[in-house]
Amino acid sequence: MKICDAHVHLGKSGPWQPYQDPTIYVDDLVRLFDKYDVERAVVFPNPNVGDKYPEMNDYIAESARKYPKRLVGFGRVDPRRGDAIEELTRMKNDLGLTGLKLHPMVECFRPDHPFFNRFFQEVSKLGLPILFHTGDGFSSPALVTKIAEKYPKLLIILGHLKEGALNTMEQFENFYVETSGTLPDFIELATDVDEDRILFGSDIPYYRYPTQIAIVEASRIAQKAKRKVFYENFQKLFTQK
Ligand SMILES: [Zn+2]
Repeated sequence: MKICDAHVHLGKSGPWQPYQDPTIYVDDLVRLFDKYDVERAVVFPNPNVGDKYPEMNDYIAESARKYPKRLVGFGRVDPRRGDAIEELTRMKNDLGLTGLKLHPMVECFRPDHPFFNRFFQEVSKLGLPILFHTGDGFSSPALVTKIAEKYPKLLIILGHLKEGALNTMEQFENFYVETSGTLPDFIELATDVDEDRILFGSDIPYYRYPTQIAIVEASRIAQKAKRKVFYENFQKLFTQK
């Protein structure tokens, strides 16, 4: 089955676990895509790059220009920084990146704190979809929901589909979910909410294609719904220009 992937890291990484170096450059990544029949993917920088997000955003833009048919470039910005809004504008207007990845644990911020109002206002104004890492603590879907209430125009993709994301999906039509690291059961439950808002995600290079594809394959959903998750929903959301 043809695949589109909503969650891929690209470029240099800082030190990670002793057993893994997540650094991956674009030619190698595209070779990996070819191996697993991945036609297009959302790509963004690695988490562990210290204060080098702008530099990494440059690399994402350069890669997306090299493979415009394969890559949808998202940027990363640390919302705590004084120049966060400047970088948002630069990544959208100068680099042509079309979305934002936020990881409230890595960037260590509480998304609903009033300090970040201006930041989210700007994201909303620029029309950038956000892929939120979701999990515990600062990354809980409940906090993301508060952002959605304030900025109803934001398109949000909740990463790593977990049970908590299902309520949010039910409440807000502009919420999508992405499947990296989930379980087949959650995909089945999400399909009951809306099979048009589930996107396949791999979290390459932290997870691997064989396992991430197998999770979706193992879910007991109709073949038609699987095609939507693996391919069609992504293509609709990220229409090619
Ligand atoms: Zn990731």
